[in-house]
Amino acid sequence: MPHNIAVLGGDGIGPEVTAEAVKVLQSTGIDFNFDHALIGGAAYDDGGHPLPASTLDLCRASDAVLLGAVGGPKWDNVQPITLRPEVGALLPLRSELNLYANVRPAKTLRPLMMASPLKGDRALVDLIVIRELTGGIYFGTPRERRDNGNTAVDTCLYSRHEVERIAERAFAVARTRKRELVSVDKANVLETSRLWREVVNEMAAKNTDVSVSHMLVDNCAMQLIRDPQQFDVILTENMFGDIISDEASMITGSLGLLPSASLSDARPSGQVFGLYEPIHGSAPDIAGQGRANPIAAILSAAMMLRYSFDDDASATRIEEAVESALNCGLRTADIYEKGCRLVSTTEMGDAIADKLRQ
Ligand code: NAD
Repeated sequence: MPHNIAVLGGDGIGPEVTAEAVKVLQSTGIDFNFDHALIGGAAYDDGGHPLPASTLDLCRASDAVLLGAVGGPKWDNVQPITLRPEVGALLPLRSELNLYANVRPAKTLRPLMMASPLKGDRALVDLIVIRELTGGIYFGTPRERRDNGNTAVDTCLYSRHEVERIAERAFAVARTRKRELVSVDKANVLETSRLWREVVNEMAAKNTDVSVSHMLVDNCAMQLIRDPQQFDVILTENMFGDIISDEASMITGSLGLLPSASLSDARPSGQVFGLYEPIHGSAPDIAGQGRANPIAAILSAAMMLRYSFDDDASATRIEEAVESALNCGLRTADIYEKGCRLVSTTEMGDAIADKLRQ
């Protein structure tokens, strides 16, 4: 049986980088069936909504989703705001597909160490941020203006169940690595953080094979710059994870290199449903020019093999093929250094696919 993959290229460079990820997956020798659908501004232009029901149906019927990116200046002023690509497509896609666990590795690729803003060995990070994605302040209600618009309210809300299921995922990921988990919260101030810590502590008592520590989010932001190598797996809530994962990713030096997974529960077959996408956006400034770096999309495809299809060996092969192309001196414009060979989006994809076939 082939793996059925929904491919949502989206806008800007999204379709360009996703095409390279598909190319690389096709070079693995694994049997895939790819179905393409519109999302974001492209879907809005086509039918008036950034997340058409047909796209959502295709995702539900697939084993996994590969997403490019959505949005761009063309749709920045679309009204109402719920029809804008980012708000009208990404947020409902995550909640409709119950993608509550965002997994973001930040790993420095050795050939690109010089691109890190940190000096020397401190630039060599290899950590994963597990961010809760469907709860907390981005989703809680009420969210409104009061007092003639002069007062604003957002609501941060977490239930025990939401903390338990994301923590379970983090324990599972920690078990595949160094078995060290840092849970990040703001328990000295926030009630939701106190519940978070309470639940994580209860689970730590039942999962003694993983060592668990807690860190306040402000300290974590500082420690990530001071000594990033102390971290292996970081578990945190939605808004803290949004900020911490961006900070961690910058240590590696380039936005165009970093993948992500957003996972739901395992299906009855045992397969974990997930959506896989680069962390970068649609980069309208370079769209259509063959200048986009496809590596983040390709590494997202590797994550798909690891998390949805339990195929660590093939995921590692793709990651090695990426490193090997970089070791040969191939560079897209965003990571170009003197002495290297400047290649286009498709040339980089071809080279990685070739390495994989070798
Ligand atoms: P961006 O990530 O698209 O681009 C930031 C900078 O990084 C740009 O200079 C761009 O050229 C460069 N860049 C990004 N990805 C690259 C790649 N693969 N190769 C080479 N260079 C790359 O962020 P932005 O400019 O803030 O946002 C552009 C649009 O994307 C906005 O509409 C935004 O809302 C949207 N966006 C979408 C997502 C998503 O779909 N998940 C995420 C972030 C931003």
